[in-house]
Amino acid sequence: MKMAKKGVPHTCIECGGKMGLVKDINFRGYQVSGLRCTKCKFEEMDLEMAGEVIKLEKMKVEGLTARAFKSGNSISIRIPMALARVLHIIPGGELQLKTRDHVLEIEA
Ligand SMILES: [Zn+2]
Repeated sequence: MKMAKKGVPHTCIECGGKMGLVKDINFRGYQVSGLRCTKCKFEEMDLEMAGEVIKLEKMKVEGLTARAFKSGNSISIRIPMALARVLHIIPGGELQLKTRDHVLEIEA
């Protein structure tokens, strides 16, 4: 698997086949976008998304703090963009909230 560079022709460097846009390349357990050869299935990951996965892994190790703030009649929390992109959270998208003891789980 290689990293995709912007501006590279959509031709497979392995077999010369056609590269198609995909959003399901598995990178360290996350689905990232990139290009996949329609012939030999060779994959090139989106470099920015791969970078976000690496940032997210660093956050997991170092811990992540989010500040709660008032938003109308609700409390909002800010989700770092690296985390949002990797978990495919988009503005206006629906998230499932679950509570367990004093733990809030957010399912994207
Ligand atoms: Zn190919």
